[in-house]
Amino acid sequence: MYIVTIDEEKCQACSECIDVCSQSMIAMVEENGKKYAMFSGDPDDCLGCYSCQEMCDEGAIEITEY
Ligand code: SF4
Ligand code: SF4
Repeated sequence: MYIVTIDEEKCQACSECIDVCSQSMIAMVEENGKKYAMFSGDPDDCLGCYSCQEMCDEGAIEITEY
């Protein structure tokens, strides 16, 4: 199982990670006027492919395997 953690302070809401994820595990959310990407859905569905992390120019994504 993989947990993808996205640093909302670093995230620039470019949607690259959302577009690259074949499992649709990342969604854009908006809170207090700030948009950021958030890991969502069942962590068991994440393939741990690291594509989202590789796409993020902001270094906002960390992936942990459990
Ligand atoms: S690729 Fe990085 S900066 Fe872009 S939406 Fe995803 S987490 Fe945010
Ligand atoms: S590691 Fe792969 S499957 Fe998991 S959220 Fe990132 S792009 Fe999607």
